Amino acid sequence: MPLLLATTNPGKIIELRALLADLPVEILTPKDINLHLDVLEDGLTYAENAAKKATAFARASGLLCLADDSGLEVDVLGGAPGLYSARYSPKPGATDKDRRAYLLQNILAAAAPRPWRARFVATVAVSGADGSVEWAEGQCVGEIIPEERGTSGFGYDPIFLFPELGLTMSEISDEQKNQISHRALAVQAAMPILLRLLFS
Ligand code: IMP
Repeated sequence: MPLLLATTNPGKIIELRALLADLPVEILTPKDINLHLDVLEDGLTYAENAAKKATAFARASGLLCLADDSGLEVDVLGGAPGLYSARYSPKPGATDKDRRAYLLQNILAAAAPRPWRARFVATVAVSGADGSVEWAEGQCVGEIIPEERGTSGFGYDPIFLFPELGLTMSEISDEQKNQISHRALAVQAAMPILLRLLFS
């Protein structure tokens, strides 16, 4: 049975494809099967939102689905933007760059000394066509820096520094991101679930 990724975010699709490359199954995206679903992400937790996406796509496609809900939590902002990371900007039609600028504006307004500790968190939900759901989580810790560095990745990557590496999430290689990122750790934790549901 193929595995459907319940996301249209191009950055996530690239990462999830690489993270799942060793699974001996065909990985599909909604576009591959011409499935267009708008899932309202109004849950109060990452787990709830990930489950909403995974079950909606699984029910609509009849396939095993994997969804990820993730976000950036910044200590000096009391954990914001968190669940709202994808929508964190007052500007209509905001881009990732606009969201990074808005985040930095809010951190500077908080007038807190650096380092501005932050973490990326991800919850992966796996759902079968019957609506059953199982979850796995991952997170990685770092700090926000006031200038953008690096060109790879997406979202808040250019301003998320790994202090022990001296590199941002946009400066490390794709291979390295896929070993240490929140999404990588969540997918790793989800592997036993996927193997069981796909092959037993
Ligand atoms: P959602 O999971 O679709 O709600 O989106 C999560 C949002 O969190 C993304 O749109 C990004 O803004 C941010 N985010 C999640 N994971 C990453 C990452 O690996 N790098 C940079 N930003 C991320």
